[in-house]
Amino acid sequence: MGKEKQMDYSYAKATELRCPHCNQTTTADIWLIVDQAARPELIQNILDGKLNSPICPNCSQPLGETDESLLIYRPSEQPPLLFSPARKAAIAEEQAHNLQTLVKRLLDAIGSEEDDWVMEGLKRIHRSQLAPMLSQVSKRET
Ligand SMILES: [Zn+2]
Repeated sequence: MGKEKQMDYSYAKATELRCPHCNQTTTADIWLIVDQAARPELIQNILDGKLNSPICPNCSQPLGETDESLLIYRPSEQPPLLFSPARKAAIAEEQAHNLQTLVKRLLDAIGSEEDDWVMEGLKRIHRSQLAPMLSQVSKRET
């Protein structure tokens, strides 16, 4: 919609998944970083509970919800970063590692050397609270 090209810092990882219905292996893009400004449709998918729930290309059944840590980048919001750890990442060290990896990737993409704002502007949020939090934001904007 804007005249300038919108930068998109979203990041998806190609992930091999086995379909629980037909047992075929397929590769799906699993989102790990979502840039809210650039990809509102991905935010909507989170609200609908459809993000990272790919459909099997072979039998058209859902492959099942994946469980990955997710970083939401919202440059015009406070806090600007939401980190929702994977449900299975119960170990604090594993969560911290996932967070560091995603934040580093985002900073590299932005070209930002500083990470002070990241740790100040980061909110950890349980996955079940993510959609309610994001929907508050979109209500405020409309
Ligand atoms: Zn299948």
